[in-house]
Amino acid sequence: MVDGYHKMSRSAQLEWLRDHTQLTTDELDQFGVDYIHQQMIENYLTDFSLPEGIAVNFKVNQKEYAVPMVTEEPSVIAAASNGAKIVNLAGGFQSESQLLKMGQVLVSEIVDPEQLTAELNQVADQILEIANNAHPSIVKRGGGARSIRVRNLGHQCLSIDVFVDTQEAMGANIINTMMESVGNWIQEQFSGRLEVDLKILSNLADCALTTVKCDIPIQLINSDLERARDLAKRIAKASYFAQIDSYRAATHNKGILNGIDAVAIATGNDWRAIQSGAHAFAAQSGMYKGLSTWKVVDDKLCGVLKIPLPVASVGGSITINKQVQQNFKILKVNTAKELAEVIGSVGLAQNLAALKALAGEGIQQGHMKLQAKSLLIANGAMPEEVDSMLSLLFNQPKMNAQAAQKVIEEVRN
Ligand code: NDP
Repeated sequence: MVDGYHKMSRSAQLEWLRDHTQLTTDELDQFGVDYIHQQMIENYLTDFSLPEGIAVNFKVNQKEYAVPMVTEEPSVIAAASNGAKIVNLAGGFQSESQLLKMGQVLVSEIVDPEQLTAELNQVADQILEIANNAHPSIVKRGGGARSIRVRNLGHQCLSIDVFVDTQEAMGANIINTMMESVGNWIQEQFSGRLEVDLKILSNLADCALTTVKCDIPIQLINSDLERARDLAKRIAKASYFAQIDSYRAATHNKGILNGIDAVAIATGNDWRAIQSGAHAFAAQSGMYKGLSTWKVVDDKLCGVLKIPLPVASVGGSITINKQVQQNFKILKVNTAKELAEVIGSVGLAQNLAALKALAGEGIQQGHMKLQAKSLLIANGAMPEEVDSMLSLLFNQPKMNAQAAQKVIEEVRN
């Protein structure tokens, strides 16, 4: 236990770490400080870096994109680029998105839910006004609270859902501020007939849904027509399994989110919000399912991805993080809506590449090629030695730590 760590000076915090962890004084001395990041989180120690790469060949709604991706996982960027190239040759992705967000006021201890629902609907305009008055600047920007919905949750509980246009912002703070005011007003107006319990954004952002489609002539996945037909059928089957088995769906969706998270991080967006929304949406039917489907129609492989993407081009860390700003320059997106459409396309490209590998040569063969570099580094190879060691490692009967160590020794001697 430590009391008041957050109140200690930086040197006292470093001293505490030296005394209570295995860090040495030398290691502690090497921690750099970014003074802007130091203001962003609590108990700041240092910056933590992750690799950033560029996925290429994306064509979305007829516009070409180079996409910055931040990920520690080998093969993610290669797979995204590979999937994007195939779709590019087929004319590109068609992507569309809506960007409303939802806040909720959760109330309990209701005696007559039907009567209260009717009364709440009657004061819908007042609820919208209260919400908008709580954050007038978003109204000035052309956004604001748009509509309400009252849902009976059973157990004498209701949710008053408020749909808000937060323009270019993700809107969590905007909506939380609005819901505070709406909740307080409802408590006052309906005093004695309900208890207002929670006033907060919902991360199940199904009103910020992005839909991405692509139709790929199957000869783009294999030039031999018969092999292409077989591969396309297997891809469609793999996607079908994600509709009927949640165990498979979880892995299917993880592949989609491999790409989506990487762009979300690169653009300073809240990837935890995207993750929770995606998984809740995947389970909305009562069963957890794959977020994308693939079908073969007239020798075309047709993919569709539907996913909530409550992303932003301003707010949070976006405006203050220099690298995020540079990534927006790489992406050349003008709005949060366009960003969502590109991010959704990255998810579908990632999914295509994963299913193509899984249905074809198997995921491991391609994966291990890309894991080889990490394997060599993890076993002591210097980055400048890796290229000269790769082919030797591929020739080993098994690609594991022992094989990597053997190759490193061989090359060095
Ligand atoms: P901010 O609190 O940073 O608010 C964004 C602000 O940007 C707006 O209030 C607005 O202020 C300003 N702005 C400037 N230009 C525009 C524009 N064109 N459109 C809209 N706003 C503009 O962020 P959010 O409210 O978006 O909240 C997102 C943050 O909240 C993220 O960091 C997220 O991680 C975090 N969060 C997430 C939660 C969740 O997901 N459950 C919960 C709580 C926080 P003005 O108009 O006054 O200039």
